[in-house]
Amino acid sequence: MNNSALVLFSGGQDSTTCLAWALNRYDHVETLGFDYGQRHAIELTMRPQLLDSLRAMRPDWKSKLGQDHVLDLSLLAAISDTALTSEVAITMQENGLPNTFVPGRNLLFLTSAAALAFRRGISDLVGGMCETDYSGYPDCRDETLKSLQQAINLGMASKLTIQTPLMWLNKAQSWQLAATLGGEELVELIRTESHTCYLGERGVLHAWGHGCGACPACELRARGYAEYLATQ
Ligand code: ZN
Repeated sequence: MNNSALVLFSGGQDSTTCLAWALNRYDHVETLGFDYGQRHAIELTMRPQLLDSLRAMRPDWKSKLGQDHVLDLSLLAAISDTALTSEVAITMQENGLPNTFVPGRNLLFLTSAAALAFRRGISDLVGGMCETDYSGYPDCRDETLKSLQQAINLGMASKLTIQTPLMWLNKAQSWQLAATLGGEELVELIRTESHTCYLGERGVLHAWGHGCGACPACELRARGYAEYLATQ
C-alpha cells in the first residue's frame, strides 16, 4: 500500500496526537497497541473508545482508519523488572534513569511493528517518541530511532520509514499540534479520553485530564497543558 501508516497507538496523549497527524497525512492508517503487563493497562481499554471518538469526529478520518492490532508482548514483564510492570515506587536510579524505564521497550515495539507493517504492506511507522520533554529514555532519542530504522531495513530488505512527529516538540507544543490538526475538539478529546498516568489512575478529571497528578507522566502532562493554555 502506498502512502500508508501503522501508528503505535497506546491510547496516551502523544500517540493520539500522532494518530491525528497520520490521519491528516496518509490515505490509509492502521493502529497497533501492546499488551506488556503494564501497570497502566487501563490505557488499553481507552484505545477503542478513542478510535470511536476520532471516527465520529471526522468522516474523512473514519474512512482512512483501518484495522486495529494489539500484540501481546508480556515477555517484557518477564525479562525486565521495572516500575512500569511491577508494583514498586517510582524512583530515580543511580544511572540517571527513572525505574519506569523498560530496557529495550521501544526497540521491541518498533521491531514488532515493522514486522507487522511488512506483512500488511505498510510503508511508514509512526510513533510518539520525543527527546525534547521526556524522562531521558535512551530509546526515545532520534539517533536511536534512525539507527533502528536502518537496522530494520537491512534486516528485512525493506524501505520502512519511522516517523516521529513529536521528536522536537515540548509537551505544550504537542497540545498545540493537536489543536492545529483537529481544533479544540481534538484537544478536548485528548484531554478527557487519552491516558498518560503511569499508575493507571483515572479518578477525577483535572484541567489537563485524568491521572494521579503526582507520577512523572502526570507531572509532564500537567505542566505541558498549563504552558499550552498560557499561550492561547
Ligand atoms: Zn500519574
